[in-house]
Amino acid sequence: MSLTLSRKAQAVKPSSTLAITAKAKELKAQGIDVVGFGAGEPDFDTPENICNAAISAINSGFTKYTPASGTNELKQAVCNKFEKFNNIHYTPDQIVISNGGKHSLTNVFQAILNPGDEVIIPSPYWLSYPEIVMLADGEPVFVRGEQENGYKVTVEQLQAATTEKTKALILNSPSNPTGMIYSEEELLAIADYVVKNDIYVVADEMYEYLVYDGNRHISIASLNEEIYKRTITVSGLAKTYAMTGWRIGYTGSSVEIAKLMSGIQSHQTSNPNSIAQKAAVEALTGDQSSMEMMVREFDARRKYMHEKISSMHHISAKEPYGAFYVFADISKTLEMSYKGKKIETSAEFARILIEDYNVAVIPCTDFGYDDHIRLSYAISIEQIEEGLSRIEKFLMELK
Ligand SMILES: *Cc1c(COP(=O)(O)O)cnc(C)c1O
Repeated sequence: MSLTLSRKAQAVKPSSTLAITAKAKELKAQGIDVVGFGAGEPDFDTPENICNAAISAINSGFTKYTPASGTNELKQAVCNKFEKFNNIHYTPDQIVISNGGKHSLTNVFQAILNPGDEVIIPSPYWLSYPEIVMLADGEPVFVRGEQENGYKVTVEQLQAATTEKTKALILNSPSNPTGMIYSEEELLAIADYVVKNDIYVVADEMYEYLVYDGNRHISIASLNEEIYKRTITVSGLAKTYAMTGWRIGYTGSSVEIAKLMSGIQSHQTSNPNSIAQKAAVEALTGDQSSMEMMVREFDARRKYMHEKISSMHHISAKEPYGAFYVFADISKTLEMSYKGKKIETSAEFARILIEDYNVAVIPCTDFGYDDHIRLSYAISIEQIEEGLSRIEKFLMELK
């Protein structure tokens, strides 16, 4: 016997973004005016009608266990949303409500993976994917989305990375961190690849409503019957309705997979919070005007931010069409020096910005793309203006 700990748990990588966030908090606590581009959540408050639904739930005693996979009322509301917005037909027995989208993803991989199964993750990727896959005994396989292709992967690349052990592909559109969206044509090609190789596709559609400039979000499961059978569609309320703290996410899948996930969830967490489920019903079925207002505001900030960055030296970014991030290429600066010292990594770039200019940005090493940073526009336009002008000053110091 010995007091060794779980190797799997110890292999979990603490997020590098935390270091920057901690530094930003420390500076703020000292009364320093920090501009934070790190935010991965909307700056808006949860809309009032949604909060009121939660208050009513409490006042009416809706505070007990619900079915482990969520209430029938919420599952039905999710089905209606899938039907109307995504053009996908699911019945309530195909829906599992979980404690946030991240929990939904965790359930998915626990339900489909056996030890050693490979999961293809296009990079840049949301930093939790590899960890979630490894915690479910899977092996991440990374495929790099090239800048020239809008950071998206091609079917040729996917096919080259596919082996006997490939079990699933993760598809995140609109993407965190790039803000890119896969077109219908691209999705059709990916669907063909998935069906031909007989694997699953886990479609993370968390940002499906945050789409701008006449672009359209298309759900891969809506394309045809064959891809529908192999897709697990994951979404949630956090980003769309400014409900990050409420923790409600959901999946649409085959009944068979939904049953496995409900079983796992029934032992691991039981039902998601009953009050938050009532609030989620209101979010999905009630007045949508607050959400539409948030989308318009994000769009205005997005345009401002992209134009401003495009006018700056040594940094560039493709125009994002979805989510609330600008993915900026800082590769030129990594060859340059600040106060006589070469910068070299995006982590160092971010460290200088927070320490000398009080601006927090996310270095994308843990997103699988070292020479880029992620800037969130889930902050006010005034903050964006101030933060970008500080970054501009920093860039002018580079030799
Ligand atoms: C925020 C996010 C999620 C999960 O959000 P929850 O807060 O767990 O609902 C999932 N995928 C991506 C890409 C995200 O950015």
